[in-house]
Amino acid sequence: MIRLTKQAHSLHRLELDDITIWFSYETPVAFEITGNNVRCNNCMKQYKDKDLLTCENCNTDEYLMDTPYGFKITKNIWSSTTGKHLNMINSDRSIRIENHEFIKLLTEALE
Ligand SMILES: [Zn+2]
Repeated sequence: MIRLTKQAHSLHRLELDDITIWFSYETPVAFEITGNNVRCNNCMKQYKDKDLLTCENCNTDEYLMDTPYGFKITKNIWSSTTGKHLNMINSDRSIRIENHEFIKLLTEALE
């Protein structure tokens, strides 16, 4: 499944099979993992295959945790319009993370 939804002027939501990404203008500002992800609790590498039993990165086989990233949203480092978009996506400012961290997590989620 892939679907692009316009939620407001210059705010779009892109839904893919296992991730939804919100864009303010052309910039990703929030995402939500909707698939079955696992993460190695030893080296923190993220995997999309829930049935994987051994971490390919550190060879650990007992620390794979069912810990999806869930919902992530960046702090606003842009315009007040993007600030409004962020509030529309989720108004809880306490969950917003630094943009460089957000980009890092989104990049990992898309690997
Ligand atoms: Zn590992």
